[in-house]
Amino acid sequence: MNNRKIKKVVIAGGGTAGWMAAASLAKLLGKTLDITLIESDDIPTVGVGEATIPTLITLHQLLKINEKEFLAAVQGTFKLGISFENWRDVNQDYIHSFGWTGKDCWAAGFQHFWKKGLDLGISEEFGKYCPEWAAAKANKFAVLSREGLNYAYHIDAGLYAKFLRKMAEEHGAQRQEGKIKRVNLNADDGYIESLLLESGQVIDGDLFIDCTGFRGLLIEQALHVGYDDWSHWLPCDGAIAVQTESLGEPIPYTRSIAHGAGWQWRIPLQERVGNGLVFSSKFWSDDQAIDCLTKNIEGKPLNDPRVIKFKTGQRRKHWHKNCVAMGLSSGFIEPLESTSIHLIQRAIVRLMQMFPYDGIRQPDVEEFNAQMKFESDNIRDFIILHYHVTDRSDTEFWRHCRNMEVPESLTHRIELFKQTGRVFKVPTELFGENSWIQVMLGQGLMPEQYHPIVNMMSDAELKDFLVGIRSQVDRTVAQLPSHADFIRHFAPTM
Ligand code: FAD
Repeated sequence: MNNRKIKKVVIAGGGTAGWMAAASLAKLLGKTLDITLIESDDIPTVGVGEATIPTLITLHQLLKINEKEFLAAVQGTFKLGISFENWRDVNQDYIHSFGWTGKDCWAAGFQHFWKKGLDLGISEEFGKYCPEWAAAKANKFAVLSREGLNYAYHIDAGLYAKFLRKMAEEHGAQRQEGKIKRVNLNADDGYIESLLLESGQVIDGDLFIDCTGFRGLLIEQALHVGYDDWSHWLPCDGAIAVQTESLGEPIPYTRSIAHGAGWQWRIPLQERVGNGLVFSSKFWSDDQAIDCLTKNIEGKPLNDPRVIKFKTGQRRKHWHKNCVAMGLSSGFIEPLESTSIHLIQRAIVRLMQMFPYDGIRQPDVEEFNAQMKFESDNIRDFIILHYHVTDRSDTEFWRHCRNMEVPESLTHRIELFKQTGRVFKVPTELFGENSWIQVMLGQGLMPEQYHPIVNMMSDAELKDFLVGIRSQVDRTVAQLPSHADFIRHFAPTM
């Protein structure tokens, strides 16, 4: 244990991670801490990260963020899920929605009822039993007060950082502009003592949060914690981002469109669209990737395409000595399921839950690291699933993904679903049963059987059950306004 009391927190980096940490700590623990954030005007933020998942709403509720103000400030739109196009095979698509599909019974999930219905020829497409899926397909949305839709947001990352900065500063966080030149370590215990800026100014602190992006200036370059590289499971290592003007009204979901050696995203904001392509440099050069993206974007580009290189994986320790890494400095899983901002939020909440006011205790550090690793490992498996379970074999990239070894934990889940139709959420993992099922079915993995408990229902009862759910979904969606109309009334900047 290190008995040094924690009073002064220094956040290195002012991207989404830095400002999320500053706003949260200042708002929720600010009365007990001095918080300083250092960012350099000369080092740009990564400038992407515009699709979120529903957990962000929990953080915003904790921070008492007004949803209308937030959406108007970040040009936000609503997101009901992700449309995966050409993933299972060329010209085939499915939606991974945030909702719950159908109704479960105590022993068997809805997929078992649906599967028997499919064998009998009375089931419709799996998603049609899910309100969020149906609303996304119909381009409709509303925040309903009762039994509402599960949703997240599409945001302008730069505007979000500004919004959080305002909130952090209102609650007492100090911003220090400057480039960090050196990280000063204590000669005895190796803890970080201070950061030396290029101006010569020295910023000391008790706890340091590394939000310096991929470079991991504190956690890696100074503390050398090491990195678990997952490139052998997730071969994409580059991205190109470009913004375009909107051509029509924003849709309430992200689009993920698979191509020959990667995939393209389309994230609709109120007044523009965020686009990008994630690709593998083993299979495509930067020029090939730029060419693919340029051919497949719609609308006039608002900036030149930017290439971003990354290595998928995570730091061996997210918290080491008196340094906690958050955001890209702690690792990166490609943005296929928009999980990075979620992991920032989880790191912030975990740190607050274990905040070491009276000194850093090793069991806290180990618990924090174990929880972050557990969550990241499960997200990693979920992402690999999209690449590995596919009928695509039209390019070398897809043949590689189909045939590659995958983690044993994922092999188990795939085999369990394939042979029995069962999925079990590991407690505290991010993605629930319904997410795993939607993606496994969507990628073409059909269970060989259903749970025999379904046979407790006669075929006629099963039909009524399925029709009843379908009608309820239709009624819910029928009452919704269009997504664009809802935004115009709710939080207009359009
Ligand atoms: P950065 O944005 O890189 O910020 C680093 C900060 O550190 C900057 O302020 C910089 O000035 C500062 N800094 C660095 N070095 C120094 C220094 N020496 N001195 C002073 N300051 C310094 N996440 C999602 O949740 N959803 C998505 O849809 C999504 N899409 C993505 C697409 C791509 C292609 C990529 C690469 C990432 C995506 N992410 C997404 C991840 C998301 O962008 C990041 O998690 C998020 O932006 C946080 O970044 P960051 O703050 O850690 O780093």
